[in-house]
Amino acid sequence: VTVYLVGAGPGDPGLLTVRAAEVLAAADVVVHDRLAEAGLLDLAPAAARRFDVGKAPGGPIRQDRINDLLVSLAAEHTTVVRLKGGDPFVFGRGGEEAQALADAGVEFEVVPGITSAVAVAAYAGVPVTHRGLATSFTVVTGHRRDARDPETDWSALAAAGGTIVVLMGVSHRAEIARYLIAGGMAPGTPVAAVQWGTRPEQRTTRTTLAALGDAPVEPPATLVIGPVAGLDLAWYERRPLLGRRVVVTRARNQAPDLVARLAGAGARVLEVPTIAVEDPADGGAALARAGADLAAGAYDWVAFTSANAVARLMAVLRDGRDLAGCGIAVVGPGTAAAVRAHHLVPDLVPARPLAESLLADWPLRPNTGGRVLIPRAAAGRDVLPDGLVAAGWAVDVVDAYRTVPARPGPDQLAAVAGADAICFTSSSTVTNFVDVAGADRVPPVVACIGPVTAATAREAGLEVAAVARTHTVGGLVDALIAALR
Ligand code: SAH
Repeated sequence: VTVYLVGAGPGDPGLLTVRAAEVLAAADVVVHDRLAEAGLLDLAPAAARRFDVGKAPGGPIRQDRINDLLVSLAAEHTTVVRLKGGDPFVFGRGGEEAQALADAGVEFEVVPGITSAVAVAAYAGVPVTHRGLATSFTVVTGHRRDARDPETDWSALAAAGGTIVVLMGVSHRAEIARYLIAGGMAPGTPVAAVQWGTRPEQRTTRTTLAALGDAPVEPPATLVIGPVAGLDLAWYERRPLLGRRVVVTRARNQAPDLVARLAGAGARVLEVPTIAVEDPADGGAALARAGADLAAGAYDWVAFTSANAVARLMAVLRDGRDLAGCGIAVVGPGTAAAVRAHHLVPDLVPARPLAESLLADWPLRPNTGGRVLIPRAAAGRDVLPDGLVAAGWAVDVVDAYRTVPARPGPDQLAAVAGADAICFTSSSTVTNFVDVAGADRVPPVVACIGPVTAATAREAGLEVAAVARTHTVGGLVDALIAALR
């Protein structure tokens, strides 16, 4: 058993370390705080247990309880991940957790994280050291501890020069500023107060020590105090969609890089599933039978027209050996990748990702006859099976799964209600979304990838604000940026 004390970074999922992603992917259980980004928790297996120790009736869970929880989880699980904001040993009480684990004889490993003390300042365009302005930086807590603790020596900090980075200092900021001025810092010393740093909600307030108490700042925020805070190398907050909430439907044909591009432009992306994959009507009985026949050598070919079909068939097989001697045909690159993930090499990938193209490239039937298994979605297209039968093959079409509209949960619908815009990448994404969420829940700005999608949206009663000039994901994002400007 190992308990991993893992730094999650300040928020942007891209600021997670490679090691942290590795241990998250192997986690049996994740213990996290209130501020953990959902995107990071998604890196843990779906089956992993999750504990939010930042949220409990009456406030966050006490530290000694968290320590006990970690020790007891270590007795039940193999890989326990304690995910903490920023770096676990920078004001994260990670040291106390490590101490409790050591005392209990539990093995632990520390995965350092990118601390907000440095990264939040960087995302605000403030270097914590800078030639000619600051040769040191001090990270200090602004949280007042109980009376027995010696107070932070603010005068000494003021006298030391260099940059002062205050964490947990929002509520005491007026006092902190007074102490520093009393210690000799100029009232006009620049301050950058950065809230929700590295996240689409990031907002930097630039002020001075004298005005800090009256500056509007909400936690969580990092205060950067010193001449470097007068530098304005803003870059993150210049992103064209910063903080905009944009809905994309997570449908089969959703272009995968749309989410990345929107996030890259600063948007908060809300992925709403509109299609769910479920067992076929017979509960998978026919598929299980086909799997047994396949293992017995009954088929010459198996044809996959979706990655879902690959997953479903492989789930009823022992492993790839059950496919020994059987050709594997796939409809396109996504399905090919799903096959390769099982360490199988597809024998036939058509020139274009279409059933028609697969049929055109299909080898001639051997004289001895030939049998093809097509596991696929219930009510799929018949182009491939009909064409193969016409070419003399014996074809078994087996329902491997069925797609049903996915009802978004109440949390998702609430998030959609606050969104600024929605992107549609095909007519089916329009109809799926309107089916599951309702036309009245469509966000105010609608962006479509092309005229066909836009026509479908208008037929559904939506007002279309943006249509991509080039019908690509990049074009769609450009059109959205122009519409929201
Ligand atoms: N271990 C963490 C710090 C924990 S103390 C680290 O290394 O970053 C929590 C404080 O960190 C907050 O009160 C706030 O001052 C700062 N902080 C954490 N995340 C932040 C964010 N995204 N933006 C601004 N400040 C943040």
